[in-house]
Amino acid sequence: MSDNNKRGRLFVYSGASGVGKGTIMKRLLAEDSTVRLSVSATTRAPRPGETHGKEYFFVTREEFDEMIENNGFMEYATYCDNSYGTPKKAVEEELEKGNNVFLEIDVKGALNIIRDYPECVSIFILPPDFETLEKRLRKRATETEEQIRFRLETALREISFSDRYTYNVVNGDIDKAVEEVLSIIRKETGRE
Ligand code: 5GP
Repeated sequence: MSDNNKRGRLFVYSGASGVGKGTIMKRLLAEDSTVRLSVSATTRAPRPGETHGKEYFFVTREEFDEMIENNGFMEYATYCDNSYGTPKKAVEEELEKGNNVFLEIDVKGALNIIRDYPECVSIFILPPDFETLEKRLRKRATETEEQIRFRLETALREISFSDRYTYNVVNGDIDKAVEEVLSIIRKETGRE
């Protein structure tokens, strides 16, 4: 238990792909010991370097559908042809332990969580501008041109929902963005 038997807080964390969300998340995990990242289940194939149980639980369509039927997800959504879902039990256990659980999920999933768990704190990471976003997405080079273009379109659509989140953080300078999110966590968990 990290903080006087206090239940942890649920954080919803989104941003267009390529915005540096993952990099910020790694720093949050390293710099705030109360932060936990929920590991989602997905039907997407692993990218090189991704491990089952670490970035995602990579499951078959059948396994995913079975989890839906068993009411095992807090939310789930389809993104670029693949399904992604937040396992309910693991998140609940971490919150009970007093940890602050981050759900790194797309806008559709986030809006469902904001509706179903109104006590959550939602954070949207924005790129400083569209050119930077495109450059970052291309540098990753794990997707085809068509996939990149689709992700860019999806990104623009997602950014239009950023005003539904409690906080917007612009990732121009990574250190500043990390400090801003850490300060949001401290504020929302009464440590400021
Ligand atoms: P990627 O394929 O790049 O890992 O993730 C694609 C998108 O799916 C990202 O916006 C990511 O945040 C989102 N995502 C990952 N896990 C979940 C989840 O459990 N639920 C929802 N709704 N979106 C997720």
